[in-house]
Amino acid sequence: MTHVTAGRHGLATLAAGVLLAGALLAAGPAAAQSKSAPAPAGGYEMHDGHFHLTNYIQEGTDIREFLKLMGNRVGRVALFGIPLQQMWAHENTGDFAPTYYLQTDAPLYYYSFTDAWIAMAYKSLSPAEQARFDPMITGFNPADMYAADHIRRVLKTFPGVFSGIGEFTIHKEFVSSKIAGETASLMNPALDRVLDFAGQVGLVVILHNDVDMPFPKAGQDPYLVPQLRDLLKRHPKTTVIWAHVGVGRVVQPVKDHLGMIGRAAAAPELSHVYFDISWDQVAKYVISSPEATQATADLINRYPDRFLFGTDEVAPKDQVGYLKIYDMYAPLFAKLTPETKQKVLKGNYERLFDKARRDVRAWEKANL
Ligand SMILES: [Zn+2]
Repeated sequence: MTHVTAGRHGLATLAAGVLLAGALLAAGPAAAQSKSAPAPAGGYEMHDGHFHLTNYIQEGTDIREFLKLMGNRVGRVALFGIPLQQMWAHENTGDFAPTYYLQTDAPLYYYSFTDAWIAMAYKSLSPAEQARFDPMITGFNPADMYAADHIRRVLKTFPGVFSGIGEFTIHKEFVSSKIAGETASLMNPALDRVLDFAGQVGLVVILHNDVDMPFPKAGQDPYLVPQLRDLLKRHPKTTVIWAHVGVGRVVQPVKDHLGMIGRAAAAPELSHVYFDISWDQVAKYVISSPEATQATADLINRYPDRFLFGTDEVAPKDQVGYLKIYDMYAPLFAKLTPETKQKVLKGNYERLFDKARRDVRAWEKANL
């Protein structure tokens, strides 16, 4: 969820850092691709594993307009809104109506209706158009022991629609501390319930968790790293995509970030974890120097099944804006092997989300 509407910007050095590993295997050729929109002869250029149709005040792009932006370049999209609503508190900003969380001190709150909004947008499409989307459930409070029950209720209300949950957030700079109520944490059993349930159903999880706090003092313990590792190890049956490999608008890659991702990718107990390189703030680090680009490419080439491309755009208005990050990543893509590039842009998405569709539909049939 990141960021969005207002410029996100970013981090600094990618340096050692950013990205991750991956593993997808040779994804079969576009098995579940749309039958409708005539795919170009050579296939679509990419799938988008991270996309927000709506913003922090639950407004956004009409899904039919968005299909036009996807055009014949983007095949499939992991589709979600944003689970948080920025409150317009008149006592705080008066007649100024904030549309972004940095524009006011008023709190954010969980807006569960986002799930119905996304489901109804999806259901308004033809089957061929629907085949190009993997809708995601986001409208739950991950600090609430009842969160998993919300997810189950959404599946029951809208069977045949959803492929996963997320992008939802535990630690996010400037956002987590603004949310009304109990602060989310990686150690909260409510989150364990959510991940357990996702694993049972087969829902893909897109999790945003910053790798560190903003502006850490030199030598400060990056305590979120072991907390996240332990959380992921507790849920080996749940497919988790770590959004943005943990960097943010201000949160920078931790020391030896690329090394950390490489160790995670190599760890058998984390083989269910994937990494998305979405967000122009991540791309900025990756292309910050030829060395950073090469180091990132080396890592992805080593673990080609574990990384997914995504835009992390929010409610885009035109194709140029929507695919800006794809163009930013050109230097990285140029350094990937053809096989790796295919996996990062399409193959890994197809492998993970085709499986999620099969598993979630089977669970719905058996349990609802
Ligand atoms: Zn996002």
